[in-house]
Parts: sequence; C-alpha cells; structure tokens
Amino acid sequence: MWKLDDSKKTIIAGPCALESKKQLVTCIKHLKEEGVKIVRASLWKPRTNPGWEGWGFYGIPMLLDETIKRNVVPATEIMTAIHAQMIVDAMRHFGKKAKFVVWVGARNQNHFELRRLSKILSESPDNLYFMFKNQVWYDKKHWYGLFEHIIASGFPPERLIAVHRGFNPGYGENPEQLRNIPEYALCMEMKEKMKIPMYLDPSHIAGARDKVFRVVEQSLHYDFDGYLIEVHDNISVAKTDINQQLTFEQLGHLRDMINGKRTLEKDQLAA
Ligand code: PEP
Ligand code: MN
Repeated sequence: MWKLDDSKKTIIAGPCALESKKQLVTCIKHLKEEGVKIVRASLWKPRTNPGWEGWGFYGIPMLLDETIKRNVVPATEIMTAIHAQMIVDAMRHFGKKAKFVVWVGARNQNHFELRRLSKILSESPDNLYFMFKNQVWYDKKHWYGLFEHIIASGFPPERLIAVHRGFNPGYGENPEQLRNIPEYALCMEMKEKMKIPMYLDPSHIAGARDKVFRVVEQSLHYDFDGYLIEVHDNISVAKTDINQQLTFEQLGHLRDMINGKRTLEKDQLAA
C-alpha cells in the first residue's frame, strides 16, 4: 500500500475552512510543532445552512505561498471541474515545489462532475494527491462506484485515498448521538477491495469535540492508514463546524492515541 508520508498513520489536520492568512500561518506553526505536515484548509465550503462559503479561488495563491514557504503540504476540498482546473493551473504556475492534496466531499456525488474533475486531476502534475469521501447515505455499492468512476477517468490508484466520514444517521438508531454513523468494518472491506489507503474523518463523524476522541479510540481496532482532523486556532469563534474543531493541544493528545502512546483519559474530553 502506498503512503502519503513516512508515518505509520498519516495525520492531515487543520481548520474546517481557511479563514485568514493569519489563521493559516498560526495553524501551520502549531501543527508543525505537533508533527503534522499536511495542513487541511478548505477554500470552498459546502454549507448545511447559508453562511460563510470560504475564500474560494482567491485563497489558492495564499495557500500555496504560505505552505511552500513553511515546507508543509496543503489539503483542500474541491467540488467542481472548475475548482480542479484552478488548482492544477496554480500548481503549474508555482512549479515543482507545489504539492497539493485535494478531496471530494460527501455532498457532491454527481458522477458527471466527478468524472470531469477526476479527468482534470489525472492530467495534473504528479505531486497532486486525491482523496474521495463516502457519499452521505449508506450504500456500499455507491461508494465503490465513486472509486470506479475516478479510476475510469484515468487517475492513478497510487495517488488515490478513500476517506470515511460516516453515513447520515437518518431515522435509525444513534445511541452516541453522532453527527454521522461510522461503519468501520465496511471501511476495511472497501480497503481490501479498492487496494488503496483508507483514512478516517473522525471530526465529521463525531460532530462534537469530546466525541472525536471516542470515535478515534473505537477506530484504533481497525487498520486505518490515516486521519483527517479538524483543528482551529480559536475554537470559540470558528466560522464553520464550531462544535467539532479541536485545539492544538487536543490534537497532540489525539496524535499520541493514534500512535499508541496514550489512551483515552477524561481530561482529554474537556471541550
Ligand atoms: C468537510 O470536510 O469540511 C466536509 C464538508 O465534510 P463532508 O464532505 O464529510 O460533509
Ligand atoms: Mn467541516
């Protein structure tokens, strides 16, 4: 199985949405101190309710400039072929030093657009990595279908990663009151079938800071290859997903749990 970096379990962390240059610089500094070198910062934000939608196109040069300078890799969500094209064009402009991780989220599973954007990514410079999350609703055939569409577009499996963010709870049982229901065993089945790394997004499964720890603890019984985690420099004023973004200190605890150096303790749950 190929790896995005040389750690046993890769950690991608950063704010749900990129909010400002100052925030980005602060996050990079703290994340590097916690040993994280792939920095999440979404430019286009799909919203459940109307609100802040992100920096969009204007954030691309900022993200590349600040990450290249500090020797970290940016990771951002794209939704359309136009977003894909803008990222690829910017990478060409910045040259060899530009690396990017992009992903398609759970909410845009239109296969025509997925095929179009995957084709553009497949013609990108080599140092672009592509993650795709499962769709919102429970359906393993559909999730596998996303993989098939991406591969059929020509994107190489050696740079492709699947991410589980749970399935919408709908009307079913949800005793832990999670934002989305994780299906860990299904992830392992998918990993086996797709033969690509399988990451977990505990932030969008949990929906609340304290629950992120419990979700990660449960996931450690399964062979996930990496984690995509939301972290904010000032959790009380986050513009998006305010309940689930972690502090840098909490991320440090979580990293130690993921690396088997610490178990879940009550003090880690303090929101
Ligand atoms: C996100 O990663 O911020 C996001 C919108 O997640 P999802 O696509 O899983 O809903
Ligand atoms: Mn989010």
